[in-house]
Amino acid sequence: MASSNRPQGFGTKAVHAGAEPDPTTGAIMTPIYQTSTYVQAAPGDHKGYEYSRTHNPTRSALQRALAGLENGKHGICFATGMAAIDSLIKTLRPGDHVVSTNDLYGGTYRLFTKIFQEFGIGFSFVDMTDAGQVAAAMRPETRLIWVETPTNPLLRIVDIAAMAELAQKQGCLLAVDNTFASPALQSPLEFGADLVMHSATKYLGGHSDVVLGALVVRDDALAEKLTFVQNSSGGTPGPMDCFLVLRGIKTLHLRMQRHCANAGAIAQFLQQNSRVEKVHWPGSPDHPGHAIASRQMRGFGGMVSFTLKGDRMEDALAVLSGTRLFALAESLGGVESLIGHPASMTHASIPREERLRNGLADTLIRLSVGIEDPQDLIDDLSQALDRKG
Ligand SMILES: *Cc1c(COP(=O)(O)O)cnc(C)c1O
Repeated sequence: MASSNRPQGFGTKAVHAGAEPDPTTGAIMTPIYQTSTYVQAAPGDHKGYEYSRTHNPTRSALQRALAGLENGKHGICFATGMAAIDSLIKTLRPGDHVVSTNDLYGGTYRLFTKIFQEFGIGFSFVDMTDAGQVAAAMRPETRLIWVETPTNPLLRIVDIAAMAELAQKQGCLLAVDNTFASPALQSPLEFGADLVMHSATKYLGGHSDVVLGALVVRDDALAEKLTFVQNSSGGTPGPMDCFLVLRGIKTLHLRMQRHCANAGAIAQFLQQNSRVEKVHWPGSPDHPGHAIASRQMRGFGGMVSFTLKGDRMEDALAVLSGTRLFALAESLGGVESLIGHPASMTHASIPREERLRNGLADTLIRLSVGIEDPQDLIDDLSQALDRKG
C-alpha cells in the first residue's frame, strides 16, 4: 500500500537520491563524464553543459544526491573538504567575524587563522558545549557561527538547535561540519542550520579512495552565491571522484550501522580495560554530551578516543605501534579501522601547553572504528594494550 505523504526513509534515499538512468543509454549508474567541454549546435545553443568547471553531469548527480541526503535543496561539491570551507568563507568580507569552536579540525583552524585572518576576517574560538560562551563571543559584525559536532578528537557534542537560536537572534548564518556524523546520523538543517559541510573523503566516500568536499543549503540566494564562488575560484572535483562518492553513498546507511555497533562494543571493552583511564564516545551514558547527542543524532558514530593511565607518551606510542588490524594513519570514516595519536599527528602543530589546556593529553589515542568483525578489533586492541612502552 503506497502512502504518498510519508517522507522516504534514509536507506531508500541513500540508494536513489539524485540518481536517474542515463538519458542516452539507460545506464543505471551515473556514467563518469570524463570531458572538459561540450559541443554546441550553434553559439549558445547547448544542453545545459558548456565547460566542466561550471557543470559536469557526474558532479550534478552527486550534488543532487547530497542535497537529498541532508534534506537540503542545493548540493555544491568541491575538490576537498577544505575547498568547500574556503569557498564559504570567501562569501564574507574583510571586517566580518566568525565564532567557532576551540576543538576544531586542524585544517579548518589553519585555514581560518593562517589564510583568512590575513585578509581581515576575524575569528573567535570558544567552548561551544557552553552556549553562554558562544553568546558572549558574538559581535555586531559576526556573520557566521561555525560548528563541528561531534568534535575531533574528543567527540564533544555541540547543541545545534541552541546554536541556531543564537544565529537567528544575531541574524547570521549557522554552518555545521557534519563530517563525523554523516547524514545518516545527523541532519543539521532540521535543527535550524543554514549550511552543512562535508569532507566526503570520510564516511560519504567510505572506502579511503577519494578526497572530496561538499556544502548543502536550502536557501536559493545563498546557493547562488556559493555556486558563483565554486565556479570562479574553481576548486571543483573531477567526475571520477564524484562517481566514487556516489558509489560510496549507496551503502552509507549500512556502513554507519556497523560503524556505530562496533564503536559501542569497543567503547565498552576499553572502559573495562585496566590500562585505560577515560573513554570518549557520545553513546556512553556518562559522556557529558550524551543527552544532546541522543536528541540530535540517530546513532553515536564510529569514532572513539581514549587516554591511558599515567602521562607517558611512550605508553601511547607502544599501543599505536602494537595493533595489527588497526592501521596507523590519519583520516577516518573508511571501512577499515584506523588508529591515530592526535598529539604527534593531527594536532602536532598546536603548542603542547595549548593542547593540554584543551584536554588533548599525550596519552590520547583516536580510533576510527571500521566495519570488520568486532571481536577481531577487540582482540587486536587487547593485545596492543598488553604491551608496555
Ligand atoms: C577531513 C576533515 C576536513 C577536511 O576535509 P578534506 O577532504 O581533507 O579537505 C574537515 N573537517 C573535518 C571534521 C574533517 O574530518
